[in-house]
Amino acid sequence: MRTVQHWIAGKTTSGSTDRTAPVFNPATGAQQSEVLLGSTADVESAIAAAKDAFAEWSQTSLSRRTKVLFAFRELVNAHAEEIAELITDEHGKVLSDALGEVQRGLEVVEFACGIPHLLKGDFSDQVSTDVDTYSFREPLGVVAGITPFNFPAMVPMWMFPVAIACGNTFVLKPSERDPSASMRLAELWQQAGLPDGVFNVVHGDKVAVDTILDSPDVAAVSFVGSTRIAKYIHERGTANGKRVQALGGAKNHAIVLPDADVEFAADHLAAAAFGSAGERCMAISAAVAVGSAGDAIVEAVNERARAVKVGSGRDSSSEMGPVVTKEAQERILGLIDTGEAQGATVTVDGRGYVVPGHEDGYFVGPTVIDRVATDMDVYREEIFGPVLSVVRTDSVDEAIALINANPYGNGTAIFTSSGEAARRFQRGVHVGMIGINVPVPVPMAFYSFGGWKDSLFGDKHVHGPEGVSFYTRAKVVTARWPHSSHASEASFHFPTAK
Ligand code: NAD
Repeated sequence: MRTVQHWIAGKTTSGSTDRTAPVFNPATGAQQSEVLLGSTADVESAIAAAKDAFAEWSQTSLSRRTKVLFAFRELVNAHAEEIAELITDEHGKVLSDALGEVQRGLEVVEFACGIPHLLKGDFSDQVSTDVDTYSFREPLGVVAGITPFNFPAMVPMWMFPVAIACGNTFVLKPSERDPSASMRLAELWQQAGLPDGVFNVVHGDKVAVDTILDSPDVAAVSFVGSTRIAKYIHERGTANGKRVQALGGAKNHAIVLPDADVEFAADHLAAAAFGSAGERCMAISAAVAVGSAGDAIVEAVNERARAVKVGSGRDSSSEMGPVVTKEAQERILGLIDTGEAQGATVTVDGRGYVVPGHEDGYFVGPTVIDRVATDMDVYREEIFGPVLSVVRTDSVDEAIALINANPYGNGTAIFTSSGEAARRFQRGVHVGMIGINVPVPVPMAFYSFGGWKDSLFGDKHVHGPEGVSFYTRAKVVTARWPHSSHASEASFHFPTAK
């Protein structure tokens, strides 16, 4: 059986432990490989390789760094299909969706190709007589990324292109459920001319993560995953003096107003709820139907949910694949049971869904649960599966209040033809990313991505301008080049401009 190894200092290594985790193909339920679970020593050697490489990489000119980034962009583009196949086989999502994920990651690489412009400082001439002030930003050192299973290529690519472009060196600890895409990306970095040690991948679980969080040689940690772990990463990382951005879970709501185009809203709601089997941090998992929108939208979404083509991600006719593990499948099915037991109405039932030829795959059919109340488990839990709950309210203000009472604040959307309602919504919701007739409002790479409340611990969002800011720190220089004929004008009082 294939063993997925670490990538340290430009080569694969088996590390110092024989602890491993199985990697399954979710469409068949069969184990297809195993991945090493790194020891403290393995992670320390990745950090040491990154520390060694920092001295040279941080001094490499902007134009040489940019050339490597452009070459990496070309290579990822050329190998996009191959990376997508690795994702589909380990994650389960359909191939077209996996390709979309690679594309969205590539957009961050393209953003980072503009790093000479992004790192420009400010200059102020003659702030005092014969004195100029200017600023510039420097890389932090070794930085780390700890990433979730649901986007094994895109989420790491939210982080490392920007970090590396800024002159940092990087240690990635990807999800142990789908570790292969990051290994392929490491090989492509090497082919692109990135010096060994600048990008390292170490696989593992809590042991590896804790080593990163406790290492005095790691300056900053970017994390994306569930809220419980995000909070832990933020607390332990910051207690150890690191910069931390820790993106957590989500419960994304979409409001449907009576003036919305029902067919349009239903098409987009179904795609946002069931795409990638609902395993997106920006998936819509709660529709908030306002007033008379309720019955019409439930009927239209039911129709679409029943029509979704569920199957193996490798089958080009599939629109939705399996969920990632047997445990995830059982958890999701259990939550649907609780919805029914607690009084909601399951209008489309994905329990017991069987894909012929894939009887052992981890499939859950698209599910719609109507008349969900906010105290039910299906509303309170992040289901992370193909389940859309419908909550009904009487007014848009009640819908906004409901969203604001939720502990998460990642993404949200509204379907309406009223500019006034959309504006009230965008100003009133306590959520980081907002869609107006756009249900999955993932910002482009040149904006930053991040939620509010329990969806983000730390104050910087990822990629875009906030990513550059997160991975660098500023210096401000005040300079004078005195002329021999000038009086020195030194004084014992606090310096003020002249
Ligand atoms: P997870 O929190 O289980 O795992 C994320 C990472 O943390 C993995 O690398 C994992 O190995 C590590 N980890 C797991 N348990 C740990 C522990 N006890 N101590 C230290 N490290 C640990 O998340 P997941 O199941 O892989 O991903 C799904 C979650 O990620 C969902 O909650 C989803 O909303 C969230 N997510 C959020 C965003 C966002 O942008 N906010 C994006 C993608 C995914």
